[in-house]
This record gives sequence, structure tokens and C-alpha cells, in this order.
Amino acid sequence: MFKKFAPLVTLFLAALVASPVYAQQSNVDALKAQAVAEIDRQQTFTQQMVDQIFSYSELGFQEFETTRYLTALLEKNGFRVDRGVAGIPTAWVATYGTGKPVIVFITDVDCIPRASQKPGVAYHDPIIAGAPGHGEGHNSGMAVNMTAALTLKKLMEQQHIAGTIKLVPGIAEEILGSKAFFVRAGLFKDVDLVLGAHVDAEFSTAYGTGNGEWSGLVSVQYFFHGKAAHAASSPWDGRSALDAVELMDTGWDFRREHLRLTQRSHRVIINGGDQPNVVPSEAAVWYYFREMDYPHIRSLYDLGNAIAESAAKMTETTVDHRLVGSAWPPFFNKVIAEVQHKNIEAVGMPSWSDADQTLAKALQKEIGAKVEGLKTKVEPLAEPVAKPSGGGSDDVGDISWNVPMVYLLYPANIPNLPGHNWTDAVAMATPIAHKGSTAGAKVQAMTALDFLLRPELVQQAWDYFRNVQTKDVHYESFLEAGDKPVIEMNKEKMEKFIPELKKYYYDPSRYKTYLEQLGIQYPTVKPQ
Ligand SMILES: [Zn+2]
Repeated sequence: MFKKFAPLVTLFLAALVASPVYAQQSNVDALKAQAVAEIDRQQTFTQQMVDQIFSYSELGFQEFETTRYLTALLEKNGFRVDRGVAGIPTAWVATYGTGKPVIVFITDVDCIPRASQKPGVAYHDPIIAGAPGHGEGHNSGMAVNMTAALTLKKLMEQQHIAGTIKLVPGIAEEILGSKAFFVRAGLFKDVDLVLGAHVDAEFSTAYGTGNGEWSGLVSVQYFFHGKAAHAASSPWDGRSALDAVELMDTGWDFRREHLRLTQRSHRVIINGGDQPNVVPSEAAVWYYFREMDYPHIRSLYDLGNAIAESAAKMTETTVDHRLVGSAWPPFFNKVIAEVQHKNIEAVGMPSWSDADQTLAKALQKEIGAKVEGLKTKVEPLAEPVAKPSGGGSDDVGDISWNVPMVYLLYPANIPNLPGHNWTDAVAMATPIAHKGSTAGAKVQAMTALDFLLRPELVQQAWDYFRNVQTKDVHYESFLEAGDKPVIEMNKEKMEKFIPELKKYYYDPSRYKTYLEQLGIQYPTVKPQ
């Protein structure tokens, strides 16, 4: 029976191969295989980038070494670089290619205050005590995106593929400080899609509001101005700006009971006066107001302003405020996420060594977290949760409401860590981060190839963006005309540590890895 039909089957297969759809798909698959092979060959390049940026450890808006390093590397590789975009000295856009589609790769580059930590060591052991460090893992993102972009450039040249590839850094993401300004400056105006990447312990992507653990926010500083006086001999002549800060905080905390359960707000006092015998003429407090959508964030912002004004009235001081960051809650594109998830499944989790797992488990044990080592499985693409609960924020949210976008989470860190902490830096210049970044680069390149070679997918992504995502919700920036990026933020903090940090910058011409340069035995764990 099979014999009888064999000629027919052959005929059918021949027709299939000759059909444009099949040829196109097999071409995409062949190019993806080439991209994966090339990224495997680039593992040393990827590792060096991860280690180099880890060693720079630069806070938001002060990413000068990181920027110098990345832009030089991109220019050397034939990308055109525009520096100082959106009025931010450390921001840039790198471009290769011409025509449509225009695909932007974005990922953050800044680090966390006080998170300095020796990589590969499963207990607190800072490289420089008190210094900034990559306690979130943003040092790996550019290794992911650049490895992918350079690989794509190679393939686009060889195969004469039309399209434009752009790279953009997430500057000062930890203070939600740049991306609303990028949008305002028109960086995404003619862009077709945005492929963001962020370090994680798992390998995943999402669409819509995803797992619901995102909030949007405004980040606002309130500056109170009073009148100095001798605090003992003539306090009646003084008006305390610190009193106003404390009254604002008390007022906010009473009001908190009457806010929606989805709000999250927190503050730090950034100026509490100089010394007790001087009535503080200047004091300042910094608030994050988080909610689930634009109108509710806006109303928290208005309430904050009203409470600040009231505190000023009570104390006969004056107050002004400035917005230092803002973020819409992200919303990701279903069409791109589905394409991307297939690529995640095809790449699969990195194969972790015993040393990798030993480090992960020892760190989890050290901090009292659930001891389960590194993730070894890719989970299926989940439907967005019905009732988002809110959580942290990311200013990619603003981009996601202007262009179809997804956010790849690539597996370069250890699960069950607290975030924004030295623990989150432990894996970030070790084989865990290196392998995770290589895996992430593969998915970024493969997903870009899908959209470069199949224009109908770009159209479908935009259909979802226009007809589903933005059907009833329209982007409105939190920025007002006078708002400017706070580019002087972190300057003093960074300058204090640069001379020390410089001694530890990674030198790949002398050491294969940063672990080797620091003389760290991998993994270093307490006797179990
Ligand atoms: Zn981040």
C-alpha cells in the first residue's frame, strides 16, 4: 500500500517544497540555525561583555565607562552611533541597516547602590564595601542584545536581508529615569517592534499584563524651604523644613488607609537638615507613588502634591517638587510573545554544571531562601492573570504603549533572591550569567529573524497593538513640558567610588574571566 502511494507522496512533497510558504519557513529555520551556531562561537565575546560591565558598576545616569565601552565596540563593528540622545549624556542609539522593518533591542545598564559583591562567592563579601554593584544583573543585558545584533548584522549582510537594527540602553532604569524621555524625544517614532531583554532566573516571555506583578509609577521629590535660626536661643524665628517633611509623611500615612489596595507608596528622606542646633531651612523627601493605570497614578501624584502643600501651610514653609521618574505599567504584545516563546522552547535552558548548582544552593541556604538551585525547565507561555496585583515597575512600560514590544526574561541569575541586593550580584559574573546570556542572545536573534523575514508577522503585531491593546487606552506621558531627566543624580555617590572601582575594572587582555582576575575559586561556598 505504501509502495503504491509513494510516487504520489513524492509529488506532494515536491509541490510543498516548491511552495513559497514552505520555502520561506525553511529559509527562516536555516538562518536561525546559522544564528545559533554563530552565537555559540561568540561565547567568549559574550562572557567578556558580561564581566566588563559588571566590573564598571555604574549607577543610573552615571554610566559613562559602560557607554564608552559599548559605543566603541558598536562603532568598531560597523554600527552608526548617536550619542547624548534625549538630553541624557550617557544615552545613545546605535543603528545598522536600512529600510523596514525597524527593530529596536533595549536593555538596562545601570546598577544598585551598596550592592558591591565578589562574583561566585555565596556569602556577603563586597569587592569594595559600600560601593555600587550589579545587584540586579543589568550587566548582562547588553551582552545578550549585542551578541544578537552583531550576529544579525552578519546574516543580513551575507543574505542581503532588508531591515534596520537598533540598540538602545536603558539608562537609569533603577530610578525609572529615562524611557519616558526617550519616547518624548521620538526615539521610537518609526520603529516597528521593540525586543527588550531583562535578566531573570527563568527563561520566559509574556503578553498583556503578564503575571500581573507590574505597577506603574511616578517618582517625585519634594523640596521644603523654611528659615534657619538658632534652635535653642531663637527657635521662634525659625521655620523648619524638616517639620514639613515629617508632617507630609504623617499625612500620607493616615491617608494611606483610604487608598485602593493596589496602591504602593514608599519614601526616603533625602535631606533632613544639617545639625540639630540649626533649624533646618532646607529638607526634602522622595516618594514613589505606584498604581495600576494612568488615571490612578495621576491621582496619587495629585494627592501627594496636595499633602505637601498642606504640610507647607502648617509650618509656614514653601514647597516645590520635581518629577524624577515615571513609568506606565508595561503591556506586552501577544503576537511577538507567541513567536518568541517558540524560540525560547527551541533554545531551552542552559545546561548548568555541578559548580553552578552548588553556588546557587549555597546562596539560597545562606539567606534562608528556598533551596532549589537553578531552574532547569522552560514553562509554557502563560495567559495574563485576570486580576493583576501589582508590584515593581519598569519604564519600558512607556515604550510598550507606543510600539509593539515584548520583554524577554533570560535565565542568568539564581532564583529566590530578594532583588536590589548584593545577593543578586553573586551569579552575575560567573558561568551562570555567561550561559544565560548566550541563551538569551539566541532567542533575541531568532525572534528578530522571524520578523525580518516574515513581514506579515509585523502587520499582525500592529493589528494586536491597535485593535486590542490600545483600543480603549491611549498613552499620555506623565511628563510635563518643564520636566527634564535628572542627569546629575548619583554623580557624587559615583565619584566617591570611581578611584577604587577603577582598580578592579576587568582586563580581558590579561585574564580569561573576571573570576580569574579577582582570584576567586568557583564556586566559593561556606563549608556545608
Ligand atoms: Zn532591572
